[in-house]
Amino acid sequence: MYVSVVLFTADLRLYDHPPLRAALEGARQVVPLFVRDTGVTGAGFATPNRLAFLADCLRDLDAGLRRRGGRLVVRSGDVVEEVCRVATEADADEVHLAADVSAYAHRREQRLRRALEADGRRLHVHDTVTTVVTPGAVTPASSDHFAVFTPYFRQWSAQHVRDVRDAPRAVRVPPGIGSEELPSRAALSGLSPGLAEGGETAGRERLAAWLRSGVAAYEDRHDDLAGDATSRLSPHLHFGTLSPVEVVRRARLTGGPGAEAFVRQIAWRDFHRQLLAARPAAAGADYRTKHDHWRSERTAWDDIEAWRQGRTGYPVVDAAMRQLLHEGWMHNRARLLTASFLAKTLYVDWRVGARHFLRLLVDGDVANNQLNWQWVAGTGTDTRPNRVLNPLAQAGRHDPDGAYVRRWVPELRDIAGPAVHEPWKLGAADRARTGDYPDPVIGLAEGLSRFRQARARDTDDD
Ligand SMILES: Cc1cc2nc3c(=O)[nH]c(=O)nc-3n(C[C@H](O)[C@H](O)[C@H](O)COP(=O)(O)OP(=O)(O)OC[C@H]3O[C@@H](n4cnc5c(N)ncnc54)[C@H](O)[C@@H]3O)c2cc1C
Repeated sequence: MYVSVVLFTADLRLYDHPPLRAALEGARQVVPLFVRDTGVTGAGFATPNRLAFLADCLRDLDAGLRRRGGRLVVRSGDVVEEVCRVATEADADEVHLAADVSAYAHRREQRLRRALEADGRRLHVHDTVTTVVTPGAVTPASSDHFAVFTPYFRQWSAQHVRDVRDAPRAVRVPPGIGSEELPSRAALSGLSPGLAEGGETAGRERLAAWLRSGVAAYEDRHDDLAGDATSRLSPHLHFGTLSPVEVVRRARLTGGPGAEAFVRQIAWRDFHRQLLAARPAAAGADYRTKHDHWRSERTAWDDIEAWRQGRTGYPVVDAAMRQLLHEGWMHNRARLLTASFLAKTLYVDWRVGARHFLRLLVDGDVANNQLNWQWVAGTGTDTRPNRVLNPLAQAGRHDPDGAYVRRWVPELRDIAGPAVHEPWKLGAADRARTGDYPDPVIGLAEGLSRFRQARARDTDDD
């Protein structure tokens, strides 16, 4: 009997899963395998929020496989050693894996290929499992990757998107392959209390609801902080409980300006992936350095802590940082303005902020997080690298009535209307009702002037 191993990584689903479909061709037996990779845990990437979401995903994947006659095999250890061990136990001929973009994923793929080939087995790596367009499939004339989104998007939009594959009807797993117990969310501590539920079932329900009743208004409402009118599909795309190909194809079928604007955001995800695939060092080093002498945890500890805890004295910044603590997720507009506040107004190294986001975000993702941070810090691909987002202007535009702030900052709940954005201007009676809500950690003019000097050129206050 021909046996294949399918190694699940950032593709924890049964629908639209090319590696699984390829492995099952000709009614072969398959070992669906997930390895709790000590390389990932050792790098500090396995944080409570993501481990909890992952536990949900593995349980749901196992349940889906069992409904089809199979089951998920879970092992812990070095991913290459564990895959080889399982391949030997199952006497497998080949291993299937989704392509991924980080330096770690590239090394994993190379090591795995070498180890399997030494044992006479083949590794098949599948594209368009974790992206819509394969990184490197579209390039400008003079480079191996796009550094500007708009021309990338033009080419990305013109690419053929493959058909969506059904989930398999049956999965036959060879007998005698041992598995560890599935991890469980209940065994974890330190989770954000409002963390979303993981798993393909939850992801598919969210996608269906979004396409039915959310996406049409996306173009108009995506920046409305209190409206919370974005898809919240990011953790599902990060863990691969949803296929980006399927998301794009179904959104395009829905049609309309909302769906078009939504598909454009998915293209941003691919954009950052093609950039990281070509420049893996951009996960930690400036993509385009501005020779910043950033403030660091050593020199700006109190400011950084105020930012992390949501106590900067700028209510819209604090609301966003508290949403992150509570949900392990934050609205995109909130990510933009909090990141700009840290990197530009407080002039703190973007890596300090990126680390905090990665610790908490349930969708925390090397490509999207690091490259969005670089974009905001002006060391990445923003074509206006010196723009500074003014938190008051941002609040006026994207939380005009202050409802977002009142939702997340209880000290300010009694302050009606837009006055909530500038508590330092309140009269004594109202100010007394704001409890121990702090004064601003810095004046905006002061922050802007420091940033201008640091970059030694004109900056935009936006
Ligand atoms: C400083 C900063 C850090 C970020 N860190 C992450 C991260 O770790 N993981 C992550 O998935 N996204 C990150 N983003 C991008 C974006 O904020 C989130 O993807 C989005 O807020 C998720 O919410 P949603 O699913 O409702 O998005 P929607 O607005 O519904 O968009 C749909 C999908 O498009 C993709 N997308 C949207 N905006 C972007 C973007 N700017 N860049 C890349 N992809 C995008 C996401 O996969 C998202 O789920 C970051 C943005 C900033 C400014």
